[in-house]
This record gives sequence, C-alpha cells and structure tokens, in this order.
Amino acid sequence: MRISIEPNRCMGHGRCYAVAADLLSDDEQGFVAECGQTLDVPEHLRDQAREAADACPESAISLLEATAADA
Ligand code: SF4
Repeated sequence: MRISIEPNRCMGHGRCYAVAADLLSDDEQGFVAECGQTLDVPEHLRDQAREAADACPESAISLLEATAADA
C-alpha cells in the first residue's frame, strides 16, 4: 500500500497526523509535512493510513493498494 497526499487540497486541519502519528507529521504551518509525496506504507501502519484517509475532510489523502506488479 502507498499513501498519496494532494497538496492543493490540504487545508491543514491536522486530523491526519493526529490519527497516524507514526506515518505522518506536521510542518511549521500545521499542514501535513508529507504534502505532495507518495509514501510506501509499512504493513504494520496500514490501519493508520486508512484512518488518516478517512479523517481528512478535504479528501486530500489517497490510498493506493499494492498490485501484483509490486510483489
Ligand atoms: S487532514 Fe487532510 S487537510 Fe488536514 S492536514 Fe491532513 S491532509 Fe491536510
């Protein structure tokens, strides 16, 4: 699984890194520091990634499930 964060949508509510503190962090303005990035999600943090995506009111967070090509 990968997590992608769309910088044009992020409004800095901070809900994502509040529920996924092991995966995401905040920058000095309160926006998610990983804006514009696509990160690999370690298996043990998948639940946090899902919670972060569910928590974002701007739908800025997309989850990309691994495909057979990633195996
Ligand atoms: S919850 Fe969404 S809008 Fe808020 S900081 Fe995280 S990615 Fe940005």
